Amino acid sequence: MIVVMSVSATEEELQQVAATIESRGLRSLRMPGGDRVAIGIPSAIPTDVREPLFQTLSVLPGVEHVTHVSRPYKLASREFHRADTVVEVKGVCFGRRQIQVITGPCSVENYGQMRTAAQVAKASGATVLRGGAFKPRTSPYAFQGLQQEGLKILQEVGYETGLVTISEVMQPDLVGVVASYVDILQIGARNMQNFPLLIEAGRSGHPVMLKRGPSATIDEFLLAAEYLLHYNNAQVLLCERGVHPLDRGYTRNTLDLNAVPVLKEISHLPVIVDPSHGTGVSRYVPAMALAAVAAGADGLMVEMHPNPREALSDGAQSLTPAQLQTLMAQLRELAQAVGREI
Ligand code: PEP
Ligand code: MN
Repeated sequence: MIVVMSVSATEEELQQVAATIESRGLRSLRMPGGDRVAIGIPSAIPTDVREPLFQTLSVLPGVEHVTHVSRPYKLASREFHRADTVVEVKGVCFGRRQIQVITGPCSVENYGQMRTAAQVAKASGATVLRGGAFKPRTSPYAFQGLQQEGLKILQEVGYETGLVTISEVMQPDLVGVVASYVDILQIGARNMQNFPLLIEAGRSGHPVMLKRGPSATIDEFLLAAEYLLHYNNAQVLLCERGVHPLDRGYTRNTLDLNAVPVLKEISHLPVIVDPSHGTGVSRYVPAMALAAVAAGADGLMVEMHPNPREALSDGAQSLTPAQLQTLMAQLRELAQAVGREI
């Protein structure tokens, strides 16, 4: 952060700015310029201090303006990498003009279910097939996923249909196993700050889609992405999937679509939106999927089940094959209107 003082700022005003910075436990650095002085903060500023400090400094006497010159995350920021990052997985590019649609059921349940889902996905124009095999369930009594058996099924139907595959990994020691079956590793919302998992997924070099935690700020989200990048994995997709809602009775989460233009501005990484977990209600999914494309998302993750009423997880938010077809047609039209394609 740099505080640029006005030309007429007095010594007293300069000292007040320095004292305000130092009262937060930070170092201040006076940087005399041609006709004015700037005061910089040369160290990392804790996330919870940054915004309030920015506001306080902005209104001090003698201050002309305050700018963030350096963010807590480096590799994930546009300051570091100006051009959009394109993540290419088997010819499917995230971060270019084409919007990629990831679809499939919440959980892999059996071969027949996945085969049907894959055929529907393929016919709809989606490029990536999802299916959870290791499931993060709130209750230990809920379906936990078919685990390695599920990964085998996903790999098989992905191969049969030529779709790229994605599935969640929940623990560091399983990164290698999951990566051996699927093309993209998913790090779920609940594990966004599972640092050993981020480190292992980073080291794997395998493409990763990182979901935003339900209570994570944008900075925390990008710092989690920073772990992946720091451990030498440049193939990172960010996924907004909703934050804790105010209105619990209506939607499961609140899809934070503000995050899309914000992330696109401050980071170079492709942004995916998941309106399924974002709403938790299948009838709201199309509206939010369309809104996400209008907001500038590079991809969507939409849960679809051959028979949502029989789904072992997240049936209430899963589209039917017919609903997915209808949505894809609407998305295609909208994409064109905003200079994209599907
Ligand atoms: C999922 O994609 O099925 C999932 C569990 O998502 P999230 O981590 O966003 O809750
Ligand atoms: Mn789900």
